[in-house]
Amino acid sequence: LVEIKNVRKSFGDLEVLKDVSLNIEEGEIVTIIGRSGSGKSTLLRCINALEAIQAGEIQVEGQSVFPKMNGLRELRQKVGIVFQAFNLFPHLTVERNITLAPVRTKRVDKAGARALAEKVLTQVGLAEKIDAYPEQLSGGQQQRVAIARCLAMSPNLMLFDEVTSALDPELVGEVLKVMEDMARRGMTMILVTHEMGFARNVATKLVFMHQGKVWEEGPPAELFANPKTPELQSFIGSHR
Ligand code: ATP
Ligand code: MG
Repeated sequence: LVEIKNVRKSFGDLEVLKDVSLNIEEGEIVTIIGRSGSGKSTLLRCINALEAIQAGEIQVEGQSVFPKMNGLRELRQKVGIVFQAFNLFPHLTVERNITLAPVRTKRVDKAGARALAEKVLTQVGLAEKIDAYPEQLSGGQQQRVAIARCLAMSPNLMLFDEVTSALDPELVGEVLKVMEDMARRGMTMILVTHEMGFARNVATKLVFMHQGKVWEEGPPAELFANPKTPELQSFIGSHR
């Protein structure tokens, strides 16, 4: 579904992705871990064409993202991304937050919009909050609305960048559960996360990034039990 080949990305003189290659099959749940500044967010943003790269190739569903971009709109429609900050519009209800993009891109008409909002809110366990405003929701609930908003576009791939990092500890579980449900339903997902439990128990593939490179990748159980490099060993040691 996603093919990343020999990607290089710099900000000015700073090279933050150094020859990164990664393949992700349909239905895979990939977690990316690594120290701050190792390039995790940048890699995620490149997949969705939020960042341009200097060299290499990226394809999503056989469609080129780099070096040639074929259809940014289609790409954004089939790849959902959720960030640490929920980015909901404060002046719009939950329903409007969710249906804004589907209505604008004519995926649904006004009449179908409410039904769509109900459907995706049910998936994240928040059907009763359809008419609420973001400020009336807890952080965990807002993040689940942000996920529902992505689901409303029927993506084939979801990217999550530390979506639980800004939440109070007691709210982390409900968001992880929503992502686990999505994984079980077969959604292909790439997550940058510090939740080692999720990386260990839900993910099908673990990617450890270090200094702008894919340092190690493989089945989570294998990497956790037998890290090949001292860098991963020490990372795991400090995240128990
Ligand atoms: P964290 O765990 O802290 O989120 P990360 O692994 O996601 O870190 P990135 O955000 O990908 O790291 O950043 C990788 C490197 O690129 C860092 O050195 C960062 O300072 C730099 N960087 C990221 N975005 C920009 C930007 N827009 N302009 C300049 N430098 C940037
Ligand atoms: Mg980051």
